[in-house]
Amino acid sequence: MSAVETAVSPLERLRTLLAEVADLQHAESIADWDSRVSMPPAGAQARAELSGTLSRLAHEKFTADELGGLLDELRDLDTDSVDAALVRVTRRLYERAARIPGELAGEMAEANGLAVAAWDEAKARCDFSIFLPHLERQVELKLRYIDCFPPEEGSFYDVLLEDYEEGMTTDEVTRVFARLKEVLVPLVQRKRDANGEVVLQGPFPVAAQEQAGLLVLQGFGYDPLSWRLDETPHPFAAKPGAGDIRLTTHTNEDDLTSLFSTMHEFGHGVYEFDIDHAYARTPLGGGASSAIHESQSRMWEYLVGRSAGFWRWFYPKLQPLFPEQLGSLDEMSFLRTVSAVRPGLIRGDADEVTYGLHIILRFELEQELLSGTVAPAELPELWNGRMMEYLGVAVPDDAHGVLQDMHWSIGLFGYFPTYQLGNVISVQIWERAESELGDLEQQFERGEFSPLREWLREQIYRHGSRYPPRELLRRVTGSDLDPEPYLKYLQTKFA
Ligand code: ZN
Repeated sequence: MSAVETAVSPLERLRTLLAEVADLQHAESIADWDSRVSMPPAGAQARAELSGTLSRLAHEKFTADELGGLLDELRDLDTDSVDAALVRVTRRLYERAARIPGELAGEMAEANGLAVAAWDEAKARCDFSIFLPHLERQVELKLRYIDCFPPEEGSFYDVLLEDYEEGMTTDEVTRVFARLKEVLVPLVQRKRDANGEVVLQGPFPVAAQEQAGLLVLQGFGYDPLSWRLDETPHPFAAKPGAGDIRLTTHTNEDDLTSLFSTMHEFGHGVYEFDIDHAYARTPLGGGASSAIHESQSRMWEYLVGRSAGFWRWFYPKLQPLFPEQLGSLDEMSFLRTVSAVRPGLIRGDADEVTYGLHIILRFELEQELLSGTVAPAELPELWNGRMMEYLGVAVPDDAHGVLQDMHWSIGLFGYFPTYQLGNVISVQIWERAESELGDLEQQFERGEFSPLREWLREQIYRHGSRYPPRELLRRVTGSDLDPEPYLKYLQTKFA
């Protein structure tokens, strides 16, 4: 018996512990998915407690001394191996997580459950005051979280960025965003002055939209044995385990934005789906970073989903589902309509040009909120003022303003910038894909999406988190984070 026990190598023991942690996290993911897809609202309190417990258990297991000891024993692995990558990634997460007391981790998970429910209600009733105490609590918890890390030379906000984007600094984001603002604000201004565009005329029945969404997914390579698609107010993708990909979309009768939400979530889903199964139940079994993840959702939503080639393939399938609404509109007019630059209120519905400004607004407000220069109660007014300044739109109510995103209700501060970094990266990767695969639009027109998907799988998806995001980007594109290809793309398309 003891002979068997001593035969377990440190690496095997580490893998066993990590698998148990991953299983607890997957259980939490299922609980979260259920709370957003199918749980009756009155379950929120009990679910928040359950999530708090699961999160605390995972945290305690992950930060236990045994795991730290194993990481020390495994310090000298060959640096190029997958095992070494596993130890490196685990050590980084371990050292960060070990700074957070289990109690704080549990408090944060529990606060999230309650705040999401309050945010939901506040948004439905257009009443920021319902959400305010929860936002105050989230800010307080986030500051306690930041305090767990030693003060660095850069910004306190670096701590939050590092959670989603290894190696990214507030300075670098500020620099990239300043460059974007320089080009985007005048571009939006010029576009706002242009007029005479066609706007889609609904209603677009929900059932037909669901059918259309599934047709797109099937074209991209959706397998019902591994995937499912549900309806939620805020679309998301979840992977509660290898081979189990759950997407949600949001359907609105007034327009066809659900199609683009579905493509977006597909991008997240396919990344997770195509990660090497040998990495399952380890910290290597997820995407490299939030921005790399987002580069993929944006790639499928915009670079594929707004391409002429895609619509030459898909429009003949879409039109018959909406004969009255689309019957007299040809595919290129349709494409112009869904690609139009139209400054609006909602980030999730924003076009490619205005999207970045929605993010820059949030990046600025988050820093002000956490540094204490702005109180949570002042947010709606500031939000509305800056929407006017950057996008020239008047916010009619908080549901269409400061309450539109759920992120702050689950304590996601430092996350928004990764969306825009993802846009920037998506074009860098796209340029490389085109140079290797030839004319992608011609392939899309024939309904062929697998050459692109296979290339992405080979270059990015299968590696999971084996490489840090900066290294992965260099391996794929040969360069570092660079806003110029993205700006060139926008200027060519929209100038
Ligand atoms: Zn996304």
